[in-house]
Amino acid sequence: MKSLWIDSEAKAFSGSDLDMRVYTSRLLGSNENLVMHGGGNTSVKSITQDFFGNEVEVLLVKGSGWDLKTIEKPGFPALRLAETQRLATLDTLTDTDMASQLRFNMLDQTSPAPSVEAILHAIIPSKFVDHTHADAVLVLSNNPKGKNIIAEVFSDCLILPYVMPGFILSKQVNEAIKDIDINQFKGIILHHHGVFTFSEDPKESYENMIELVNRAEDYILSKGVIDHGVSQSKINLEDLARIRNAVSISRGSPQLAMLDCSDDAQGYAMRDDVSKISTRGPITPDHVIRTKRIPVILEKKPKDSIPEIGIYAKEYRDYFERNKQENLIMLDCAPRAGVWLENGTIAFGSSTKECNIISDIWRHTRWTIQTGESLGGWEALPESDIFELEYWSLEQAKLAKSVGSQPSHKGKIAIITGAAGGIGEATCRSFVDEGAVVIGLDINKDVVSIMGEIGAIGKICDLTNEEEVKRVIEEIVITYGGLDILVCNAGIFYSGENIERISQDRWNKTMSINLDATRSLMANSIKYLRHGINPSIIVIGSRNYEAPGAGASAYSVSKAAVTQLARVAALELAHEGIRVNVLHPDAVFDTKLWTDEALKNSAARYNLTVEEYKCKNLLRVEVTSKKVGDLVSVIASDIFSATTGAQIPIDGGNDRVI
Ligand code: ZN
Repeated sequence: MKSLWIDSEAKAFSGSDLDMRVYTSRLLGSNENLVMHGGGNTSVKSITQDFFGNEVEVLLVKGSGWDLKTIEKPGFPALRLAETQRLATLDTLTDTDMASQLRFNMLDQTSPAPSVEAILHAIIPSKFVDHTHADAVLVLSNNPKGKNIIAEVFSDCLILPYVMPGFILSKQVNEAIKDIDINQFKGIILHHHGVFTFSEDPKESYENMIELVNRAEDYILSKGVIDHGVSQSKINLEDLARIRNAVSISRGSPQLAMLDCSDDAQGYAMRDDVSKISTRGPITPDHVIRTKRIPVILEKKPKDSIPEIGIYAKEYRDYFERNKQENLIMLDCAPRAGVWLENGTIAFGSSTKECNIISDIWRHTRWTIQTGESLGGWEALPESDIFELEYWSLEQAKLAKSVGSQPSHKGKIAIITGAAGGIGEATCRSFVDEGAVVIGLDINKDVVSIMGEIGAIGKICDLTNEEEVKRVIEEIVITYGGLDILVCNAGIFYSGENIERISQDRWNKTMSINLDATRSLMANSIKYLRHGINPSIIVIGSRNYEAPGAGASAYSVSKAAVTQLARVAALELAHEGIRVNVLHPDAVFDTKLWTDEALKNSAARYNLTVEEYKCKNLLRVEVTSKKVGDLVSVIASDIFSATTGAQIPIDGGNDRVI
């Protein structure tokens, strides 16, 4: 590990104590081996003015909700220093009282809540204080001989046994340093937790951290070699979709299952001892709120019912019963991480964000566990310590923001074709708004940027090439764990298709996109949809099916055929719980097909203004692509869970259809 301090860069942050604090906090945050996802915290002691203009000594400490990697000045709430230090002299302090007293000490009540380690930062006398959960130090500390190794490697540091973070930890440190000069130590090593460094000088405090972590890394390099299996597994994607389904049922909401099948992850999952070494506990207790205490171990070829998930839930309930105190309500029993034997590791979560955090933690966990094993073994804290942190109100508060009423497609995975514009793009927006992971397919390569802008994933795909369709669907399943919703929207329309004039070529092209591609999409999706959550196929038909128009032969025939295909699919798939419905839109003018010019000409043909023409239907409403997209999203939701084989018009009312 190298120091990232650069004098010329640091100069730009030399304006104030807080500027400098921002600079070195970001240096710490930019190294994943030190801290991850909101972990770790930093502070600086400074003088500022209160509301009345009086000078006051303050602690500026990392606020909750900020990540060291990207922290800015508002991420450091200012607390009155003396009052915050005084809290460490109390005999006891409840979590609620600590949170309210820290808030009471804040100069600006609109700042974020201060870190749970604020009192500890306050009582360390140095100006700058840095705290990380460095992997390499955890490897040494989590060793059966950890006490001896840490004492040997960090002989110039204050070394303290594990206690609960927060007030209890600040009391422990306060007792340890009250009668001594802390500057005789290079840092504080907290067993099973992490490292503190401190100095009057920001560079020294930061570089002491790097030096201490380097010592641990050097020790590992001199003694340990990671020994893991060789990856070779070919993933069975239907098994992955079944695993995702079982975890979703266990958690009570749709979950993504993001598989890491990198060589590193598969190598880990190939180890003979992987079940044993994976289920001892987290490498640092802080991780428990993201990953739960242990992952679920999944058989290479899981049985149909995935019994591992039920067993995991039962064991979680037992763990809760063994450790619970009064007034605690059990969290859900579903795993957040899985080790899938020979295949890799899996992160389970309601969003890609939640999964990415779990994946990152697990990547570091794999390294830390294997390195620990190579040094003679690794141990986690007893489950009672982990439980205490998992059910600590202050830790739960970090997650609280994410609960509440959920959007209707949160955790679901949806494929929508023809996504680069019009109804397809609008449908993608509707599903993104409702929390789904949306993958928009289109032959137009702009789909990648268009989808990127709305928070979806764009993939270029020629739907008339079945091999390509199959490959893209497999890519989606291996990335997110399954499939719940398929919207077959892509279609083409050539004007002036009189039967006498239309070429066979154009006829074939229309059929191949509007009809054949829909069959191929369905054919390649069904094996995953059957393991989806309230799975649904929605086909975008057309008013032309019920009310065809002259000059639209291929289009009208293709839409009639695709409607019949959907009806057969509804019959074939109902027993598996997959619903298939058709939407028949008409006169959707806010798409790329309709220029202002074309609209004006069409309106003129009917002797209408453009506005009148747009609403030329019984209800006199304009049918926008957003209205169509929103309806597709509702049909895919639980509201329509008892409807299949239906044809639903969205045309403002059409007398020929009615
Ligand atoms: Zn910590």
